[in-house]
Amino acid sequence: MPGPTWTFASGASEGWIQSGARPLHADGLPRMRHVARKRFGQHFLTDGGIIEGIVDGISPSVDDHMVEIGPGLGALTVPLLRQLKHLTVVELDRDLVTRLQANPQLTVIDQDVLRVDFLGIAQTAPDRPLRVVGNLPYNISTPILFHLLGFVDVIKDQHFMLQKEVIDRMVASPRSAAYGRLSVMLQWRYEMVNFLHVPPQSFDPPPRVDSAMVRMVPKAQPPVVDVGAFSEMVQIAFSQRRKLLRHTLGAWLEAKGYTGPFDVRRRAEEVTVDEYVALHQAVHGSR
Ligand code: SAM
Repeated sequence: MPGPTWTFASGASEGWIQSGARPLHADGLPRMRHVARKRFGQHFLTDGGIIEGIVDGISPSVDDHMVEIGPGLGALTVPLLRQLKHLTVVELDRDLVTRLQANPQLTVIDQDVLRVDFLGIAQTAPDRPLRVVGNLPYNISTPILFHLLGFVDVIKDQHFMLQKEVIDRMVASPRSAAYGRLSVMLQWRYEMVNFLHVPPQSFDPPPRVDSAMVRMVPKAQPPVVDVGAFSEMVQIAFSQRRKLLRHTLGAWLEAKGYTGPFDVRRRAEEVTVDEYVALHQAVHGSR
């Protein structure tokens, strides 16, 4: 029998999923027909091998305090629930929320993830730091990463599907084209590794770009950083990445009255994360 398919109802961006793609009904999530909504970044995972690779990479334990962002039709939710007692999910699409609420193993937060207070969730089980997972809506993936940075102290780890290009930037080394603000703003706080490549055909509908899975583990002993001030400094440094820092960060440092030994005759991409942190601490006096 041919596998279930998407049949597009209208236009190129929205369509009906025949949710027999996976036997979700057998796991407490009723069958449904669903219109894939482009505005919610909906690309549903359908490749069983990839789903298995992701869940293996997450390696859930029965008592984990886990939150899944964007469960959608349950491609990851269902296999995770087989290994967990309980799972909290955050989903914005009301049609999907109704279906998820039918499963007693799930706590469903029907909210924009960018407004979710992860500290509040963590405090419901303070002895078990949060594990956050998800195949993220790509249109807001960077804001989600920055939102979660605000709750990093109560998070054990994060496993996310993202555009491969975004993960390349997250893990990039200095002196590479991909190294930039995102690399610096995440690398000072997380150990990160790209652990799975995911091609477009693993999704329905397929995205236009390659995807990958990243594991992010907060550093046990991070440097002392004022995130707002650090972010401002890094943004200024990378504001004109082709120019020498003298024109951007140099002027900013001068305005701050900083006279320390920092070589501004370099480009932003030549400065390591540790150097940015040290400069921030020297300017901000948070050492
Ligand atoms: N996890 C499912 C899968 O892998 O098949 C769906 C992933 S799909 C790429 C992204 C999911 O995030 C969708 O279910 C979408 O409705 C949801 N979503 C989009 N924007 C959201 C937001 N701001 N807050 C919470 N969920 C959101």
